[in-house]
Amino acid sequence: MDTKYMAEPYKIKMVEPIAVTTRTQREEAIRRAGYNTFLLESEDVYIDLLTDSGTNAMSDQQWAGLMQGDESYAGSRNFRNLQKAVRDLFGYKHVLPTHQGRGAENILSQIAIQPGDFVPGNMYFTTTRAHQELNGATFRDIIIEEAHDSTLDHPFKGNIDLAKLQALIDEVGPERIPYICLAVTVNLAGGQPVSMQNMREVYSLAQRYGIAVMFDATRCVENACFIKHREPGYQDKTIPQILQEMCSYSDGCTMSGKKDGLVNIGGFLALNDDDLYQKAASLVVVYEGMPTYGGMAGRDMEAMARGLYESVDYNYIAHRLEQVRYLGDRLAAAGVPIVKPIGGHAVFLDARKFYPHIPQDHFPAQALAANLYLQSGVRSMERGIVSAGRDKNGNHYCPKLELVRLTIPRRVYTYAHLDVVADSIIDLYEERDAAHGLKFVYEAPVLRFFTARFEPMS
Ligand SMILES: *Cc1c(COP(=O)(O)O)cnc(C)c1O
Repeated sequence: MDTKYMAEPYKIKMVEPIAVTTRTQREEAIRRAGYNTFLLESEDVYIDLLTDSGTNAMSDQQWAGLMQGDESYAGSRNFRNLQKAVRDLFGYKHVLPTHQGRGAENILSQIAIQPGDFVPGNMYFTTTRAHQELNGATFRDIIIEEAHDSTLDHPFKGNIDLAKLQALIDEVGPERIPYICLAVTVNLAGGQPVSMQNMREVYSLAQRYGIAVMFDATRCVENACFIKHREPGYQDKTIPQILQEMCSYSDGCTMSGKKDGLVNIGGFLALNDDDLYQKAASLVVVYEGMPTYGGMAGRDMEAMARGLYESVDYNYIAHRLEQVRYLGDRLAAAGVPIVKPIGGHAVFLDARKFYPHIPQDHFPAQALAANLYLQSGVRSMERGIVSAGRDKNGNHYCPKLELVRLTIPRRVYTYAHLDVVADSIIDLYEERDAAHGLKFVYEAPVLRFFTARFEPMS
């Protein structure tokens, strides 16, 4: 294990004070929140690791860009800057801004999918799959088997299984597959990357059958950095070179600027095909806005254009991955059960192994997230049985993985903050035998994890 970690490649120009609370205050706050971290007020949170979506810290350059917003209804110069950034960095021909990633997913799904189609992907993401299904497609998971094992170390656990892809083509025919949705990195598998070789092979197989490849590029810069660190032949390439080559194995992408785009809101759809672009541009008008702003203010397009250039700076992205690895390494060194290997945006605690005495229907991951908040004011997220919901017969789905996600916002926290998180989790692990499960007090019929309320079991 490499125990040297890169220091922050930035200095702090503006500060946002955060709540330093007492145990008594946190007991009151988590009780008010029904032991659900989603229902905590952010003012009561000391270190917020709920998500890395839209929680990025912008640079002085980006804030300066906000002041140069050109809010003309049409032809904004900020759109041209965004278009240039996407062409420079990703290499795609056409760019349509959208209000966030799911706006792009909506439009791509509508223009590409016919009812009865199949969209294969390397695991699903909630909104991505929802738009595919709303347009009549069936999603098929074609990620490699290794991705489903939380203990297995594999450098590119996000890879597509080419045999599974070939089997689907043979089963339904290439004309029923409008595109392959290739996520780089794979959020649901724990931020696991896809290798360049896999992208190249997937694209070549898809081309043979006339099937398009569309990236979910949400965390593509993290993926590019993993390739530089792990894939033979890429050590001496720059992040922009790697990103360009990645995108050359695709026909377009949907992008959430709220992740690797280093902004708080925004996204885009990028396409190479002229006809598809024309169709997309006419739908953008219906759902988002003019093709030159698509649901974004001029200033926000400027911030995203600048954020994209900053995101491919090696020092920035290497430091980001190191922060995540630092937290994971500290926990692993203390014997705390985590998902391996450590991904690009988050560390996942394995709550089944953390609290083996708490049965899954007493919500061990939810209890662990609540206890972590109580212990130190750190907010995390349950990704287990509560998130999975119930089946048609009213029984809980019991997912294999019962996890707590610690997601690191970009450029927001220091190693000292991560030490607070690690120390607190290690303390909880030492006292694990005394922990109890939770029971439902309120449960909504859909997406229950957002609003569920609990109380302690004893
Ligand atoms: C966040 C996310 C999206 C959706 O983007 P939004 O900007 O939240 O609409 C799509 N795919 C992945 C992998 C994501 O993480």
